Amino acid sequence: MAKRDYYEVLGVERGADEAELKKAYRRLAMKYHPDRNPDDKSAEEKFKEANEAYEVLSDAGKRTAYDQYGHAGVDQSMGGGAGFGAGGANFSDIFGDVFSDFFGGGRGGARGGPQRGSDLRYTLELNLEEAVRGTTVTIRVPTLVHCKTCDGSGAKRGTAPVTCTTCGGIGQVRMQQGFFSVQQTCPRCHGSGKMIADPCPDCHGQGRVEEHKTLSVKVPAGVDSGDRIRLAGEGEVGTLGGPPGDLYVVVSVREHPIFQRDGKHLYCEVPISFADAALGGELEVPTLDGRVKLKIPEGTQTGKLFRLRGKGVAPVRGGAAGDLMCRVVVETPVNLSKRQRELLEEFRSSLQGNSSHSPKASGWFEGMKRFFDDL
Ligand SMILES: [Zn+2]
Ligand SMILES: [Zn+2]
Repeated sequence: MAKRDYYEVLGVERGADEAELKKAYRRLAMKYHPDRNPDDKSAEEKFKEANEAYEVLSDAGKRTAYDQYGHAGVDQSMGGGAGFGAGGANFSDIFGDVFSDFFGGGRGGARGGPQRGSDLRYTLELNLEEAVRGTTVTIRVPTLVHCKTCDGSGAKRGTAPVTCTTCGGIGQVRMQQGFFSVQQTCPRCHGSGKMIADPCPDCHGQGRVEEHKTLSVKVPAGVDSGDRIRLAGEGEVGTLGGPPGDLYVVVSVREHPIFQRDGKHLYCEVPISFADAALGGELEVPTLDGRVKLKIPEGTQTGKLFRLRGKGVAPVRGGAAGDLMCRVVVETPVNLSKRQRELLEEFRSSLQGNSSHSPKASGWFEGMKRFFDDL
């Protein structure tokens, strides 16, 4: 198979400078990297091709030879064309760049030293009253704590960690990754360069043990689902004496049988009899602080919202308390006695032919009439 022109492979001009080459190569390496294209032969070929082109063109001497003699000028120095991988000086630095893109820069971050412990998340279920008024709850969270037996070293009492035999204490190893080798955090010592010959029996060499700890959490008044309470330093302990992570208590408010909450406002439905709705009256409605009286004017329609100012929730971040909205729902009477039926029959006939008692219905009949007339 004839080799393609290296400039063509990278998609750059013949006069391209080092930065342009690098950029073009990175783009191709990202696109065709075997990790991103598993079992894709053609991507693999393109990846190899780009590697080869870049190795030649990024080396001033090889590039001059290639410019003068084409592939023949560099094939020997390539050791038969398969010699990329071990890499020249230019190679390693671009790999660093490429890999930090692939792995979000995390690679090498675990090197050596103490590590901060992980943050933990705990979901705290509260009922509406607790969320609105605030409360103090006791929670039990599983977490990793400092092992007291070995004082966090992970080594059996009386022994000490020794130099890691896998990486020789460097904390990094070279791994073959696809077509080239990369520096990786040592899988044995996780970058610390030390390993434990005689592990602590309590923590199995981890220096941390899992434990349930009991914490008291003060929940401020007004919290809502999704609010987080941060308990600094109550996450997992760090390794090698690193600082602990934090514990985030995430609030989840349970559904309430009467009230629905929307931010600082509360909503509830209040059933009323149709007689009360027609004649007006005084209702007892629930609030989080107990019952209150609500005056209903005569002629109240179903669905009407009555606002009780300040009977909602005082927001946790401050500001005025919200309102309680009571939606009245007119209830149709059922299980009528004979007498009640008679009264209603009489009432019904008294309505005949007078639309002024039914503002909604008269409007509705008007609309319907127009609708059919227009057909
Ligand atoms: Zn231990
Ligand atoms: Zn190691």
